[in-house]
Amino acid sequence: MAVMSELGTDLDRWRRRRSAVAHRPTTAPPRVVVLGAGMSGMCAAIGLRAAGINDITILERADGVGGTWRDNHYPGSACDVPSHLYSFSFAPNPEWTQKYAPQSEILEYFEAIARRYSLLPICRFGVEVESAEFDADRALWKVRCAGGDVVEAEVFIAATGQLNRPFIPPIGGLDSFEGTTFHSARWDHGHSFEGERVAVIGNGASAVQFVPHVAAAAESLTLFQRSANWIMPKPDRVFRPWERRAFRIPVIERTYRISIWARLESRFTLMRRRSWLRDLVTRLAVPKLEQVVRPNLPRDAVVPDYPIGCKRILISNDWYPALLRPTSLTITTPIRRISPTGIETADGVHREFDTIIFGTGFETTKFLTPITVTGIDGADLHETWRSGASAHLGMSVPGFPNCFILYGPNTNLGHNSIIFMTERQVDYVVRCVQDLWQRGPGRLDLRPEVMVASEQRTAELAADTVWLASCDSWYKTADGKLTNNWPARTTAYWRATTDGGPQDFTYTELGATPANA
Ligand code: NAP
Repeated sequence: MAVMSELGTDLDRWRRRRSAVAHRPTTAPPRVVVLGAGMSGMCAAIGLRAAGINDITILERADGVGGTWRDNHYPGSACDVPSHLYSFSFAPNPEWTQKYAPQSEILEYFEAIARRYSLLPICRFGVEVESAEFDADRALWKVRCAGGDVVEAEVFIAATGQLNRPFIPPIGGLDSFEGTTFHSARWDHGHSFEGERVAVIGNGASAVQFVPHVAAAAESLTLFQRSANWIMPKPDRVFRPWERRAFRIPVIERTYRISIWARLESRFTLMRRRSWLRDLVTRLAVPKLEQVVRPNLPRDAVVPDYPIGCKRILISNDWYPALLRPTSLTITTPIRRISPTGIETADGVHREFDTIIFGTGFETTKFLTPITVTGIDGADLHETWRSGASAHLGMSVPGFPNCFILYGPNTNLGHNSIIFMTERQVDYVVRCVQDLWQRGPGRLDLRPEVMVASEQRTAELAADTVWLASCDSWYKTADGKLTNNWPARTTAYWRATTDGGPQDFTYTELGATPANA
């Protein structure tokens, strides 16, 4: 029952806190500037407003809300977390048409959220933020936009996500290619594959979704794959009309949501360094995978050489059928260069293509790049993070007061819904901003000892995960530091964010000298 009320009532809790805060009646709530109108930026605005903090500006580079769901509209784009969980706990959607809704439905959901919670009037679209600087004398963040406009606010919330800067590998000769090229997150829907020889580089979560569509449309599809993925069947299906009617009954929808969360949570066992479940799944999966090996789909393209979970486990029912088409070919020999007409591999073979699609993911470990973030005494956040990004619970860094990061370092998941994590973060941020409001103008600075303990705990937990095993993934830096994933169950994060809060910070009233100066 506790789980039920916790999972379902974030918005109510924030609203209750609004009346619970005995803030100084003469003090206006802090102004807040949020970077990004994606899922977490919108969630922050909804939570803060529910708590009575209304002066919020959302700065968004694009021309609409939705973040990753606005950008990743490639054919087949969908979420691999069931939709009843991949939605806000306070805004359930009984009308999801299928278990894993397509991108268009997810984007519609977030657009509807923006309208329902009146977020559009506080969004400034088409605004590219270049820098954010803390003015210690005024306890204000000055956020500078391209074009010179400056937005000032007491609180700065960065909600730019981990997957917003497409990565295209610097393969020699790329610029010389005379055909069409694009990245999966910049899909060119005006481009027809009919009669084309198409090359796809990369085989991650995005490629697994778009390759079957390209393979069906093109004359031929050649996949350049560096390492195999563990791919499991996708238990997807359309909801029947009576099921959708049943989901309109809140207790049924909520119970279903919690059951998905609990089932996914149990999968964390697969993310541990040692896991009996992984041993069992591996023993069952490898013989099945070997059955799909064919001359155009070699064994090393199918059976991974690293433990399950080290990279994101992918789900698909049409990946292998697409690669087994007679017109498909998977190549595991490394790429040497791109020529004006095609791709040459390390064995000297050159193949000609009309189009090259990059399914090569995102720049993930350089959080907040290319925005310059300057804290106390000119501290540069990127310099602070030179040996790998880290933040207390992914949100706060000492020396950067009144600044919170959503979906920041070590908050991504390999086994459950990121929206659950976002709501925990917003809950924490709301409590901190309310505390600032209650105390009056000044700054909340993360206690250095909290940061030290946090980093130590994250490193200890990370050492017990499979992510530090022998595979390359976007979860860690080139040096092997786990910067992206939360290395424990979501319940542990839930506890940590609930136990923490304003007490993790020192408060310095505007004009006073900080205690630790
Ligand atoms: P990704 O998982 O990072 O995959 C990138 C792919 O590009 C990998 O196969 C990688 O190979 C390959 N690659 C990178 N550099 C290369 C190079 N120089 N030469 C050849 N191949 C190269 O990216 P993604 O598929 O866009 O997915 C990123 C994340 O987005 C996912 O993990 C997931 O969190 C999220 N996503 C989620 C969903 C969803 O359903 N929820 C859907 C799509 C994406 P290696 O593996 O060998 O490095």
